[in-house]
Amino acid sequence: MISYISHLLAVWAAQPLVLGARTAAGSGSHVEVTRHSGSTPVPGLAQVAGVPGELLRGRLGVVGAVRGAIGRAVADGEQFPAGVCRGEFLLRPTGKQAAALAQCLENHRELYNAALEHRRTAYRKAGVTVRYGEQSADLKHIRADDPGGQGRWSFSSQQATLRRLDKAYRAFFDRVKAGRTPGFPRFKGRGRFDTVEWPKDGDGCRWDSQPEHPTATYVRLQGVGQVRVHQHRRVLGIVKTISVKREGARWFVVLSCDEVPAHPLPATGAVAGIDMGVAWLATTSDGDHLDNQRHLATSASRLAAAQRDLAGKRRGSQRRGKAAVARVAVLHAKVRRQRLDSAHKAALALVRGYDVIVHEALNVAGMTRRAAPKPDGEGGYLPNGQSAKSGLNKSILDAGWSAFLTILSHKAESAGRQLIAVNPANTSRTCSRCGHCAKDNRVSQAVFRCTGCGFCAHADVNASINILRAGLALREAAQAA
Ligand SMILES: [Zn+2]
Repeated sequence: MISYISHLLAVWAAQPLVLGARTAAGSGSHVEVTRHSGSTPVPGLAQVAGVPGELLRGRLGVVGAVRGAIGRAVADGEQFPAGVCRGEFLLRPTGKQAAALAQCLENHRELYNAALEHRRTAYRKAGVTVRYGEQSADLKHIRADDPGGQGRWSFSSQQATLRRLDKAYRAFFDRVKAGRTPGFPRFKGRGRFDTVEWPKDGDGCRWDSQPEHPTATYVRLQGVGQVRVHQHRRVLGIVKTISVKREGARWFVVLSCDEVPAHPLPATGAVAGIDMGVAWLATTSDGDHLDNQRHLATSASRLAAAQRDLAGKRRGSQRRGKAAVARVAVLHAKVRRQRLDSAHKAALALVRGYDVIVHEALNVAGMTRRAAPKPDGEGGYLPNGQSAKSGLNKSILDAGWSAFLTILSHKAESAGRQLIAVNPANTSRTCSRCGHCAKDNRVSQAVFRCTGCGFCAHADVNASINILRAGLALREAAQAA
């Protein structure tokens, strides 16, 4: 590998280090691929401050945002503005194709490392800053010098890899400027480089490359061939970028789509509050439970076991340690995929059924509304959902809820539904019939019984009714304003 990098570098090393042609245009000409990230300010967001307390029965706290059919970014690596969507599908490559994919990743990794070495050497030896534009211009020679290796892959995908390095550099210098002490961009070891991106459909890659095929979907990748895709969901909008990702022994294709068409649904005249929970992803004020989380619980406990195993192997042999790391990574990916799938199903059901959906705002009041802090210390998924909400698995649950809300907001926007976020404070301990708020109202995880009026209900249903009421009050206040 070292010799290969030096071979690549032969092209770069052959250049005089005084690169006079270094101009600003070198780095400014490319299109940023990061359009899905960052939080876009949401236009038209109605901030509702100072909602009269009596509207809310004096009990339910309210955070100030009534959102119409507006997209919303939630921090779960799933951020994108409205009209954009991301789809991830399992690839079913043949043995030969899998080998080609692995080679493709490996060559891109070498390119990345060589480009990093080039930048470092140039700076160390001559104080010269190499930029993306120059490295991209050199690709032509690198490909010509290595037709059986670098020359096999898509030019644009290689540019994307060089831009990835460029981004790492920019992020590094941004952090330096911000007064922090970040780590310098690092060489990628084997297993640390698992994604290749083709920045434009049709350029070295083609989504749905055999549209005439009656049952299967294929993606064509330069140097790999027609790879079969396990397409479990429809792709909406226009495919912009295509990435291939390795997770353990499996391969995935990741699409990002633009111009996702809106599909307004007919009004149903129904409104609902939803309570997001542990046993069920969401429970509606109509008493419906959406998507049992049992499968997630199983994966989560397996993940916790794998993490403990990994912790125990830290001092063991390197080989066993690596296997444990890989296992944790695969389980993490599995948990993520499972919760995305349930989130899609639950969100679809809600958007079909209701014109207005009110949910708890996440990350307000620390999400401590239910559980007393009782971490189990091991990260295990406790059968008692109460503790799970505050245990180490909280991160998993939390990520699941925010992924769900992201998906829900996209579907709501596309369908023309209204989503309203309210502060969850006291929603679970307030009686939805008489408004009496007390800790003792909550008999168990599942049962709510009012100590004031005797009203008895499923705890999640009671909470979701409170959530709905708070949301409708907010909406009314926003309309009156
Ligand atoms: Zn009551």
